[in-house]
Amino acid sequence: MNCPYCGYHDFKVIDSRNINEGIRRRRQCLKCNSRFTTYERLQPAGLFVIKKDERREEFSRDKLLAGIRKACEKRPLPSGTVDKVADDIEAELYRSGKIEIPSAVIGDMVMEKLKSLDHIAYIRFASVYRKFTDITTLKQVVDTLVSGESEVSTSASQLPLLPTEKLEELAKRGQKKGRAKSEQPTKSKV
Ligand SMILES: [Zn+2]
Repeated sequence: MNCPYCGYHDFKVIDSRNINEGIRRRRQCLKCNSRFTTYERLQPAGLFVIKKDERREEFSRDKLLAGIRKACEKRPLPSGTVDKVADDIEAELYRSGKIEIPSAVIGDMVMEKLKSLDHIAYIRFASVYRKFTDITTLKQVVDTLVSGESEVSTSASQLPLLPTEKLEELAKRGQKKGRAKSEQPTKSKV
């Protein structure tokens, strides 16, 4: 490891803290004094990914991260979200206790997480992972998302029963008070 700024090979550690299943170290270059961060994590023994063509490949967090990062590029997600998704999936994989995991399973896990985070990132990932060959497949995925969303908004619009009652009550009161009549319903819509 060399300093990312000047390439020097020696540093001092200025801060070190445990983060979920790893250690984060803040380092300072002994030559140019630049500061940067390194992460150290335990590499559990042997987890292999079975590819579609049956080949086995050692699980790589970097590859997983790269795929998620690409899908999330320029999306308005809080910083650290992409790493968190990769961390969660990696942890889940190791927790499963399996030695071999089909790549399709990992792909589905990523899709599941992206679906709840960002629909554009989800569609981007799906288009690569599911290898959309035509617009129909893409449309199906988008339709599923849209129908899922309208389900949510329907139930959400049914939820505020109380506010509607209040709104009516306020409207009644407003009729008595005159001026408040026009103001109250607009307020209660929020
Ligand atoms: Zn340096």
